[in-house]
Amino acid sequence: MPNEESSHRQVLEFLVAAGVETPLDEHPVDRFALSVPPPGKVEAPPPVPEKQAAPRVAGGAPAPLAPDAAIMEARRLAASAPDLETLRALLDAFEGCALKSTASRLVFADGAPGAPVMIVGEAPGRDEDEIGRPFVGRAGQLLDKMLNAIGLNRENVYVANTVPWRPPGNRTPTPQEIAICLPFITRQIELSAPKILVTMGAPATQTLLGQKEGILRLRGRWFEYGLKGGTIPALATLHPAYLLRQPSQKALAWRDLSALRAKLAHLA
Ligand code: URA
Repeated sequence: MPNEESSHRQVLEFLVAAGVETPLDEHPVDRFALSVPPPGKVEAPPPVPEKQAAPRVAGGAPAPLAPDAAIMEARRLAASAPDLETLRALLDAFEGCALKSTASRLVFADGAPGAPVMIVGEAPGRDEDEIGRPFVGRAGQLLDKMLNAIGLNRENVYVANTVPWRPPGNRTPTPQEIAICLPFITRQIELSAPKILVTMGAPATQTLLGQKEGILRLRGRWFEYGLKGGTIPALATLHPAYLLRQPSQKALAWRDLSALRAKLAHLA
């Protein structure tokens, strides 16, 4: 019979393995009890006063925006940014994406703004969340090796992510989180104005290039990305984190990198 301490440890280990590693509060909240009134006790909602203060949750923090309102606010803010520094500051102050509340910090970009190649990944992981720069962990080290193999590095490439906050437990960002962050990453691409966009992995590729197929079907293909009234070539490729799990697929990534090198040489 396991003692109480070891069974608590087992539960904690299970939660960490399942990606639940970010406590949101000291005490669990039974949200069903909060949202479902007991049978027979349904009351009409109180009349809405004409002018309301911004709703607040316990603890005094402003209540999160509804997803549609968050998307509208993200669009308004992103469109108002005249340069990347302002965009970064606006994104840092933006409260519309729930990922911000579990992440340690914003992970905006790395490399050279305005570089001919811009790479967009999925989302920061644990190392990126600690350091505040994209692609600094194991996947980032592989990315650097891939770039070096075709004569590129972070001095001639600009790197960002589809969402700029780490999802808890490194899970894939939800479609809603991606939709809320989309105006910021599209404005970031617009302001950096690369000659070539590279999307790494399914979330970046599907979101930015408007595709539905899986990444293994999309990789290696060139798309047109609309930018400033024209288009730039956009290459879909495999994510380095996937290549760490499936090293045999590096041959496919190498083909994509060779295509990128050829396209760059052609545009030069
Ligand atoms: N994976 C990503 O997609 N982005 C990072 O910044 C790190 C890992």
